[in-house]
Amino acid sequence: MLSFYWILSFLVLVLAESVHLMSWGADVGLKVALFPSRYFMTAAFLIGTLLVAEGLIRYMRSYFDYVLISIGYVFAVVIMFGFGRLTEGLYVSLDIPIIISLFYFSKRRLWFSMLLTMSSFVLLLLVSDTIQAQISQYDLVAIAGMIAGTGTIGFAILKRGQELKLSLERAVSSEIEAFVDSVTTQNASKYDHLTNLYNHITYQEYLNALTEQHAEYDMPLQLAALDIDNFKSINDRFGHHVGDIVLQETALLLKSSISSEDIAARYGGEEFVLLLTGKTINESHQLLERIRERLALTDFPDLIGERVTISIGMAEYHAGLGKKSLFKLADGYLYEAKRGGKNRVVSSFRRGGENGEKITHCS
Ligand code: GH3
Ligand code: MG
Ligand code: MG
Repeated sequence: MLSFYWILSFLVLVLAESVHLMSWGADVGLKVALFPSRYFMTAAFLIGTLLVAEGLIRYMRSYFDYVLISIGYVFAVVIMFGFGRLTEGLYVSLDIPIIISLFYFSKRRLWFSMLLTMSSFVLLLLVSDTIQAQISQYDLVAIAGMIAGTGTIGFAILKRGQELKLSLERAVSSEIEAFVDSVTTQNASKYDHLTNLYNHITYQEYLNALTEQHAEYDMPLQLAALDIDNFKSINDRFGHHVGDIVLQETALLLKSSISSEDIAARYGGEEFVLLLTGKTINESHQLLERIRERLALTDFPDLIGERVTISIGMAEYHAGLGKKSLFKLADGYLYEAKRGGKNRVVSSFRRGGENGEKITHCS
């Protein structure tokens, strides 16, 4: 806004002086004799006002907008009386501060600009003979009407703006509400509420996406089915809530063991699934062994020294196998692991202790 005032002042300076010089034709001597002209002085006064305003704003930061409105008023009066005799329509410039106050969307600033314009204009009228001579009674009525009219329009704009602001706020808040709702329902339908792992539906979606990716990029993909051993007995002896703690701890262990490209989900009950990507079947088998060992070594204070173990079956996906067959294969290996004594990993890479693989049993 202040830059606008500066541009306006320099425009007034350049234009007024050019028009003035041109009006004297070729008589250069006269031009020089008449310099500085009344118009040049008007522009210089505007620039002086701006310099004072710059200083004021520096010390009265919180009154910045009031200073800007007041400059508008000074500009209006100076422009009007600087050029008034030539162009009477310049009374309109008295509206400048009112229009500027509208930028702030505040009734208080609009009142301030109207009162400032009205009162200072009356004051000027009372003290200045020149102004009295320039302005007729008709002009006075016209000016008062113009200020009141612009003010009324200003209040109407503020009211409309307020309504728009309210409806915008309502729209934004309902959009945020809808967003939060969608995120909440998305989360509720995506994750298992007890373990915070992905739920069965999300696992299916990831399996679809990953098998598609496999077809496209031939990326290695293994599915591991995990089942906590003798879990019913844990529930029966220590209570359902301890069973829940075991499920939650197992879920945490799974999440912290896999990489960000892998997916861990609760398949249902005490059964979990892992989708392992970007690894050879050997690497995945080693990873599952580490998971099995870590769980077997985890101390559960609620189980009074008793350990929890898990059995794991893993199968590798290949083109033409189909998702259901992949799960059946992994589940088959899991069944083999259970039958072989539990607390072990069985996969198409190594089956329960073959090839010198050491399997730790847990009673
Ligand atoms: P196995 O070693 O052969 O897997 O035997 P298991 O006892 O682990 O398996 P079984 O299928 O007999 O028992 C699973 C139990 O898991 C039965 C069910 O009450 C319990 N269960 C399922 N969901 C939850 C749950 O959310 N919280 C708790 N605490 N228990 C659950
Ligand atoms: Mg089970
Ligand atoms: Mg079980």
